[in-house]
Amino acid sequence: MIKAVLFDMDGILYDSMPFHVCAWSEASDKYHLKYAPEDFYLYEGRTGESTLDILFNQTFGRNATEEEKTVIYQEKTNCFNRINTSRVMAGAAKALEQVKRLGLDALVVTGSAQKSLIDQLNNDFPGCFQREKMVTGFDVRYGKPHPEPYQMGLAKAGVQAHEAIVIENAPLGIQSAVAAGIFTVAVNTGPLPDSLLRDKGAHRLFHSMDALAQDFASVIRDAEGER
Ligand code: CA
Repeated sequence: MIKAVLFDMDGILYDSMPFHVCAWSEASDKYHLKYAPEDFYLYEGRTGESTLDILFNQTFGRNATEEEKTVIYQEKTNCFNRINTSRVMAGAAKALEQVKRLGLDALVVTGSAQKSLIDQLNNDFPGCFQREKMVTGFDVRYGKPHPEPYQMGLAKAGVQAHEAIVIENAPLGIQSAVAAGIFTVAVNTGPLPDSLLRDKGAHRLFHSMDALAQDFASVIRDAEGER
């Protein structure tokens, strides 16, 4: 029996990826780092430090120093906070209604590390999430695509891998959830081809949170049928 639904946040609950991409591009320009904007959709889910190592390696052939990581990631965060409108993803509230209707537990598993996150979630999705059942960038050591964030989510939900499903939009997030042994639903809300999400092992794929909400009962049946 499925008992818990682990939601990724950026690109699933919030339509925030365009703002992250813009903020990464602005910070990269300022420090003359080479990038293609669509690459940031491929890095989504990584920690900021690990993304900076990739950018430094493709620009200068070396990792970023600790100081560079601190300064440039702060720059990216400041830019994101300035431009982000915190718009909720269309259909996310409907999907959460389905979770509630089926009596399942909802959790957030995100690499994001903002202190006010739970307040914002409570404001935008009242009564859906609890503070002690969240995995954020403050909790994890490795970040996605390592299975650690979703393993931590299972522990916080108090369930086994076969008792949960994951809702994810990013290739590395899907890789993380699949590595944790969890039935993983891809919702492709960005510009990447579906094949990139399927290749990471997604069990089902939708193109919007609305479409997922409409088919939610069948997703749960599929996840239970896999077991
Ligand atoms: Ca995401």
